Amino acid sequence: MPVKKQQINTSTSTCCYCGVGCGVLVHKDKSGNVLIEGNKEHPVNKGMLCSKGLNLHYTVNDKSDRLLYPQMRYNKNMPMQRVSWDEALDRTAAVFKTFINKYGPDSVAFYASGQCLTEEYYVINKLMKGFIGSNNIDTNSRLCMSSAVAAYKMALGEDTVPVCYDDIELADCFYVTGANPAWCHPILWRRVEAHKAANPKTKIIVVDPRVTDTCGIADLHLQINPGTDITLNHAIGRALIENGDIDLDFVTRHAEGFEQYSAMVFKRSMADAARHCGVSEADIRLAARYIAEAKGFISMWTMGLNQSSTGVNKNLSLINLNLITGHIGKPGSGPLSLTGQPNAMGGREVGGLANLLPAHRNLDNPLHREEVQKFWGGSVINPKPGLTATEMFEALENGSLKAIWILCTNPLTSLPNVRLAEAALKKAKFVVVQEVSNKPESLAFADVILPAAAWAEKEGTMTNSERRISYLNKIIEPPGEALPDAEIICRFARKMGYKGFDFEDPAAIYAEHARLTTKTNIDISSLTYEILKEKGTVQWPYKKKSAEEGTIRLFTDKRFYTLSKRAIIHPVPDANTSEQPDGDFPFILTTGRIRDQWHTMSKTGKVNKLNQHLPQSFMEIHPDDASTLGINDGDITVITSRRGKVQVKAKISTQIKQGVVFVPMHWGKILGNDLNRVNNLTSDQVDPISKEPDFKFCAVNVVKFKKP
Ligand code: SF4
Repeated sequence: MPVKKQQINTSTSTCCYCGVGCGVLVHKDKSGNVLIEGNKEHPVNKGMLCSKGLNLHYTVNDKSDRLLYPQMRYNKNMPMQRVSWDEALDRTAAVFKTFINKYGPDSVAFYASGQCLTEEYYVINKLMKGFIGSNNIDTNSRLCMSSAVAAYKMALGEDTVPVCYDDIELADCFYVTGANPAWCHPILWRRVEAHKAANPKTKIIVVDPRVTDTCGIADLHLQINPGTDITLNHAIGRALIENGDIDLDFVTRHAEGFEQYSAMVFKRSMADAARHCGVSEADIRLAARYIAEAKGFISMWTMGLNQSSTGVNKNLSLINLNLITGHIGKPGSGPLSLTGQPNAMGGREVGGLANLLPAHRNLDNPLHREEVQKFWGGSVINPKPGLTATEMFEALENGSLKAIWILCTNPLTSLPNVRLAEAALKKAKFVVVQEVSNKPESLAFADVILPAAAWAEKEGTMTNSERRISYLNKIIEPPGEALPDAEIICRFARKMGYKGFDFEDPAAIYAEHARLTTKTNIDISSLTYEILKEKGTVQWPYKKKSAEEGTIRLFTDKRFYTLSKRAIIHPVPDANTSEQPDGDFPFILTTGRIRDQWHTMSKTGKVNKLNQHLPQSFMEIHPDDASTLGINDGDITVITSRRGKVQVKAKISTQIKQGVVFVPMHWGKILGNDLNRVNNLTSDQVDPISKEPDFKFCAVNVVKFKKP
């Protein structure tokens, strides 16, 4: 993006879309508009930006959809009225106090987002867990990373990503599964592409039921049947064991569970596993050979594994491949989960999910609860985990949850079985929506609307997928009366009468959060805003006296965060517990992202250039299935599930397997009609451990649309 001559000010920041965390330069001109340029000095992207990052300035400069002042209504039949901040927050505090006094602290909840800055996450979490006395604070990261969080904890002892992006250039085998980074984490993938181009012997294995752009540089594409990931990973594990390609020293000295794992993976023959997965035995063995021959092996994954009713087991079955081959804690090796949102990792650091405490402390540990309670000086921390994302909406529906405060997320597009969530919000006694844009559907159900500052309008930090904390400058003023999210929450906490929310600025919030990490495994207690401003980014943990100060790679000493200090190899079962196709709903529906849109399109949907790539929602279907159903390319189709209906155009493609259809996740009511919204169809079944929904697998029927 060329920079106009009248630019007067350049600041650094970080792209607010995916968890790759690319550095940007933000040039502000005299009119207050900004232009974006990739930051060549930034260690993540070295100046590169993808289509979304390159067009970020459009979303900031266009203020036509912004909420400008607080609004409120005294009952559901009244229209919304403009009010002052004091009026809006006084009323909200009064309603929250009434519910808490009458029904207890679990009658209220906050539903936040992986797009919140760490400081924002911190104060919401502190307010809810430390003062209101409930753990009902969850975020849309529950829909995204919670299976990876649980699996890391089970395998490595803590939710921690051991590798860094610089390991990409040191690896010679990549196993990319349940992810399409060419579209969804593009700059990271460009680094893999460049590495492969410079080192053609580098092997790339892609596992995906669809042929995606990521397959473009794959040496091997394992186009498995949806839901068979664990069987495939186990079969590769079995082949590695059969060939003696495991790291015996590592599994005997630094890991536990290998014998049970070995027994589990030998339960299924290779031929049976291949049949079950829908790939050849030779290809499974080839994948095992590529891994066995690698000096550096990185497994890379995202929603294809996480968003599943067996998401944690899928994650564990993958991490097992790194563990049995000893590919962890050394250059070019390790499991690398790709974060969907820009600050899902930061949220995890402050314990911003219903079952976590700050700095990776455990809610079920009385010492940890006491430690945090003493630090905050608030009420006793409730040991009972709070409601997770989908549970909150179920609780609104059944009346046990009275009030919900939704911030920085658009649940009526993004939640599974979304009509249930819509019915729940309709029944809710009190709804607060804290938002940047006037578009999200949840605004229609709000009793109080609070205008929030957007990216570049506030200061704070975010952490990307490789534990890299970035400092984000405040570059422009928010429009109207919009305020930074952290300030809104702190003002509200003070209205509730709580002490400990009179922070002078985001730096003070960050400093308190950093102090709470002292002597934990993510210790950033000596990492200040000043250091972050000077360095731009730092990877946690930050050890002041070490040569590199930040930590690029974890577990180099092979001592893990488990009690035994050994990694745990989990012999997970390979059962698929998702809703299965049947005579009424014979197809498997899978969902995902497209290249130029992000989440529910509240930002990218504003950019004409981005809308041109794939302007409408669609259903990808195999030509043989289309022919059986009498569907031609471009025909309107009606897709139904046990929960709802969607009506979109058919896109006939050999890139999808027979019996499977794909619909993008982005469209909701914001830019389309209700019939574009794929979450009318998806299942609200969740993983029993992570409570992450099963967005990637449910049973649907497909017919050609006929005019009534
Ligand atoms: Fe932004 Fe992700 Fe694209 Fe980087 S790869 S520019 S962080 S959307």
